[in-house]
Amino acid sequence: MVGPTCVLQGLFYKSLLSQGFINIFPVMDFIDTHAHLDILPLTEDKSGVISRAEKAGVHQVITIGIDLASSRKNLELAEQFPQVYAAVGIHPHDTKGASSDEYKELLKLAATPKVVAWGEIGLDFVKEYSPRDIQRKAFRQQIQMAKQVDLPVIIHNRGAHAETVHILREEAFGALRGVMHCFSGDVKVAKQVLDLGFFISVTGIITFSNAKVVKEVVRYVPLERLLIETDSPFLSPVPYRGKPNEPARVIHVAEEIARIKKTPLEEIAQCTSDNARGLFRLPVP
Ligand SMILES: [Zn+2]
Ligand SMILES: [Zn+2]
Repeated sequence: MVGPTCVLQGLFYKSLLSQGFINIFPVMDFIDTHAHLDILPLTEDKSGVISRAEKAGVHQVITIGIDLASSRKNLELAEQFPQVYAAVGIHPHDTKGASSDEYKELLKLAATPKVVAWGEIGLDFVKEYSPRDIQRKAFRQQIQMAKQVDLPVIIHNRGAHAETVHILREEAFGALRGVMHCFSGDVKVAKQVLDLGFFISVTGIITFSNAKVVKEVVRYVPLERLLIETDSPFLSPVPYRGKPNEPARVIHVAEEIARIKKTPLEEIAQCTSDNARGLFRLPVP
């Protein structure tokens, strides 16, 4: 079976390396597909955050909206920094206060060129800051809006695996692409998400020693369907656990995937970046 281009390139690279044609560590290219640059402390040091990411080889960052105000702020950041792209949407936590005018406003923002996704949207039955019925309605409505503007969706799902998959099957199947961010299900859920044609994205949680199930998921999901993210300023990977996270640290997520999949880091970098550029239609910088 012929693998994805990035895997074949990795094999080519390894063969050159073993034959002594190249001996320098290649410049690697990472994309943080999920950060919240509008949230403190990232927003008060945005230039520092972006330049540290750039130095670490994280050449593109997608900053994610959680409500109308944050979607606006993220779009401003995307317009300010060439390597930053924005997603607009209403997080399940914030759906209870959202008016129909706000949804209309999001549709307008979504038409701007630096908006590359609709999100984050979905269901959160763990914290349940908004009533479940409102979350479900807002999730379905925003899937339809993403279809209308032809954007991929970024799905947030906690404690609602079966319902999230059910709604995606009904509303999005075959008509919409997207990613299940900060994946927290098991291999069975991962299979259902892959069957829908969606990507699976993992955070610094995979570096935690007790993250057995997510490590199993990473072992199971083919590299051509994986994305990496920080979800910064949250979920700092080991060895920064407990401190504010930032896009530069997405490399620790890639390193852990490399360990789990017993695959060179440069191949993980290339595949996950190719995947992100394909899904979100990002240019090669
Ligand atoms: Zn989330
Ligand atoms: Zn998030």
